[in-house]
Amino acid sequence: MEHGFDKVVLVTGASSGIGEATVRELAGTGARLFIGARRGERLQALADELGGTVAWRTLDVTDGADFDAFVDAAEARFGRVDVLVNNAGVMPLSPLAAVKRDEWKRMIDVNIHGVLNGIAAVLPRFIAQGAGHVVNVASVAAHIVLPTAAVYCGTKHAVRAITEGLRQEHDDIRSTLVSPGVVATELGHDITDPQVASALTTWRRKSLTPDAIARAVRYAIGQPDGVDVNEIIVRPTAADM
Ligand code: NDP
Repeated sequence: MEHGFDKVVLVTGASSGIGEATVRELAGTGARLFIGARRGERLQALADELGGTVAWRTLDVTDGADFDAFVDAAEARFGRVDVLVNNAGVMPLSPLAAVKRDEWKRMIDVNIHGVLNGIAAVLPRFIAQGAGHVVNVASVAAHIVLPTAAVYCGTKHAVRAITEGLRQEHDDIRSTLVSPGVVATELGHDITDPQVASALTTWRRKSLTPDAIARAVRYAIGQPDGVDVNEIIVRPTAADM
């Protein structure tokens, strides 16, 4: 067994893309996985395929009480909680002038409040047990700002700040920011602006597959307890941004 995988790892947004790939990557390392998202049928299919080290529950990360219940369920199933991978996210991009207030709100709710709800649900346990690890999946959008992505970049900059704040406030809790470049997933399926949807298709011509990000998450979790991998950026070699 690699170092550090005798752990209970919770993964949000595990019904597709990077979250699903992370579950596949960690299954078989010795980790026990508790996975969440809204589409329960996808979680069930993944858990059925991967076997008894993977359990699931539906989860809406924007609902703090639901996130608390998700973490309680993980603890009831596997006896403890060691790592939370806050991966769930949405990216309905548009220019600010389109004034898509509902889409701005949804990005802030899922990408920022979802991460905070996760931290709120695990932090008291991590403090009590004197150990724990929060892995937040941000983006290169946590480091740059692009037209049509102002709000999305704002949410990912916030996740970067929150991750660094968590690191500074706790000596015994590990805090990792994983920032993917473009990855071929369902992200952006909810873009309502046709021009932006077309631009996304162009960006995706140079993209990673989700397993590339899953390996970065595995690397961070697999380090010895005293080693905190704080930040990883993973881009396609040919990336423009
Ligand atoms: P996907 O759209 O494939 O996956 C997003 C996941 O988030 C789904 O499993 C979805 O599940 C879940 N999700 C969305 N809203 C909620 C919610 N309210 N509660 C619980 N789960 C939710 O995209 P990716 O795999 O690409 O995205 C994963 C992360 O990676 C995101 O944070 C994204 O911002 C980030 N990222 C992705 C990049 C890319 O190019 N693909 C680049 C940089 C960062 P369900 O709908 O079943 O709830």
